Amino acid sequence: MHKALHKVLGNESLSSSTFKLQIERDGLEFRAGQCVNLGLPNTGINREYSSYSGEQEAELAFLIREVEDGDVSPALRRLKYGDSIEIDGAYGLFTLPESIPENNSNVFIATGTGIAPFHSFVRTFPELDYLILHGTRLSEENYESGHYTTERYVQCVSQENGGCFKGRVSDYLRENPQGTDKHYYLCGNRNMLNEVYDILREQEVSGSNIMSEVFF
Ligand SMILES: Cc1cc2nc3c(=O)[nH]c(=O)nc-3n(C[C@H](O)[C@H](O)[C@H](O)COP(=O)(O)OP(=O)(O)OC[C@H]3O[C@@H](n4cnc5c(N)ncnc54)[C@H](O)[C@@H]3O)c2cc1C
Repeated sequence: MHKALHKVLGNESLSSSTFKLQIERDGLEFRAGQCVNLGLPNTGINREYSSYSGEQEAELAFLIREVEDGDVSPALRRLKYGDSIEIDGAYGLFTLPESIPENNSNVFIATGTGIAPFHSFVRTFPELDYLILHGTRLSEENYESGHYTTERYVQCVSQENGGCFKGRVSDYLRENPQGTDKHYYLCGNRNMLNEVYDILREQEVSGSNIMSEVFF
């Protein structure tokens, strides 16, 4: 597996807690939705981050939430152009099928930076049929809204008015069942994943049509 130091190309703040880190690709191969370990050189400590960029893109990008008092994410937020970062990967099974069948329709459900693998899917497969439900606490976390057409992206804001829907992704799904013939991909925090899984099963979606990636 690829393990190497890469050069940081940019670090953009997208909200009070979220940032986009851009890194030189340097030959790293990955499938959309896979993750890598990112770590500061010589610290011996790293964390998993999912690809945010598409498979064909020249640079790597990651969408990261700065966790207060975290060991790694606050240090990643401080990185700037020209710094080095260690990358180990890519790996993981949270990917789309290698050949996407015709009439394949997807519902992507994320909390926070859990939208990263879905952004990677969409960048890699522009013809994909999908709807994204994106749960954020605040409406200022609307950094994704310009990346998809309005029919394909629903920002569900839980703690204030704003976004497309007031409430959590689970509330949206309860009120707006998406059907049993779709493929559901869930990514983010464990509580959301468990709750949404139960709702989908109540809505008679087959367990084999539900894929999950737990961030924390
Ligand atoms: C497969 C996989 C892919 C991941 N991809 C991403 C990604 O693309 N973007 C991303 O931002 N994170 C991602 N994560 C989470 C990431 O690996 C780290 O857990 C996170 O950045 C916190 O690391 P830290 O060292 O700063 O905090 P730590 O010192 O490890 O943790 C401090 C505490 O924060 C909690 N925590 C972890 N993540 C969050 C969060 N997002 N919000 C609130 N609390 C949290 C932990 O449970 C822990 O209790 C992914 C995790 C996995 C397992």
